[in-house]
Amino acid sequence: MNYNKKSVLDIDVKGKRVLCRCDFNVPTKEGKITSDKRIVAALPTIEHLINNGARVILCSHMGKPKGEWKPELSLKIVAERLSELLGKEVIMAADVAGEDAKAKAAALNDGDVMLLENTRFIKGETKNDPELSKDLASMADIFVNDAFGTAHRAHSSTAGVADYLPAYCGLLVEKEVSIMGKALADPARPFVAILGGAKVSDKLNVINNLLEKVDTLIIGGGMAYTFQAAKGCNVGKSLLDTEKIDYCKEMMAKAEAKGVKLLLPVDVVVSESFPSPIDAPIEVKTVAVDSIPEDMEGMDIGEKTRELFAEAAKTAKTVVWNGPMGVFENPILAKGTIAVAQALADSDAVTIVGGGDSAAACEQLGFASEITHISTGGGASLEFLEGLELPGIACLQDK
Ligand code: ADP
Ligand code: MG
Repeated sequence: MNYNKKSVLDIDVKGKRVLCRCDFNVPTKEGKITSDKRIVAALPTIEHLINNGARVILCSHMGKPKGEWKPELSLKIVAERLSELLGKEVIMAADVAGEDAKAKAAALNDGDVMLLENTRFIKGETKNDPELSKDLASMADIFVNDAFGTAHRAHSSTAGVADYLPAYCGLLVEKEVSIMGKALADPARPFVAILGGAKVSDKLNVINNLLEKVDTLIIGGGMAYTFQAAKGCNVGKSLLDTEKIDYCKEMMAKAEAKGVKLLLPVDVVVSESFPSPIDAPIEVKTVAVDSIPEDMEGMDIGEKTRELFAEAAKTAKTVVWNGPMGVFENPILAKGTIAVAQALADSDAVTIVGGGDSAAACEQLGFASEITHISTGGGASLEFLEGLELPGIACLQDK
């Protein structure tokens, strides 16, 4: 995939109607936005368009209305918040690409901003229906994709519309693609990847692809136990993907053949049962990785492993991290994840965090500002690390 895409900075938008796909899929509770992070992240592109005299038509999905008109998933609350942040009116359309949206789009003046209704209110959106794509395109002269979070989906508003309009990336997508693209295509070395999270099966292709690129691959979190089992260790009641044991053997052989250093935990924090609720206090102890008691479950990496992983991260020039090292939602089991986040924060390397839970962990634990790039797309960043072509990026014009 070509990571070098033309952006809004490469084009003249004065007087042009620009359809801009954003990621306004914000979390809400009782009709109120609980985090406006995604709206804030979209501001640089929107402000650039306004300041350069574009007539801005924003669109996004929110939640999963599945083609039905669900008032509780209306983007009106986003228009209100965006209007506060921009300090100017955001015109709200009553539909997605219907009469009201079309009339309002036609009446825009230079520098005006409007927002279409939730694109997933229309069934055709997730089917990449050409009729919807054409309807959306008919309102604009230019398409800009600034929604990295949905770039791995081929939907009408993320990719289909680019069949009918010249298409460019926004500043957020440009940042995601250039930083992660460079890390994968031409990384400063040593290049270290740290993978964790619950299951091997969630990240099969990420492991496989990263082994082609990195100097060191570190595996922690719940997925490490399947690798331990593949090495013949007893893992007690720890998370185990029994069907993936052979796959882990294959990956260990691949690492060896490629000369990639594969680091696995040497000690683990175990407990008798999973905490319930997840942040409830629990009793834990640390054991060597080959001595997990039959009736206990590995929940975090131990202290020696923390040092081992942190050391590898500190000496790297590029670090990509995806997946927590333990059940970080519980403070007693967050030490491994904190150690890795701290190592990334302390490192001079280009540090990149992808994955929804890993990004949340960095933010919750207060390390976000010291990391080079925290991806705004969970699923999209994983597909990126898998080496897949993302439809919402592939459809944009190359430089
Ligand atoms: P990401 O969203 O960053 O890609 P994942 O969704 O793959 O990460 O994994 C995150 C989840 O993995 C967390 O909810 C965490 O509690 C869980 N997890 C990590 N280590 C373990 C473990 N040893 N046992 C059980 N669950 C674990
Ligand atoms: Mg997750």
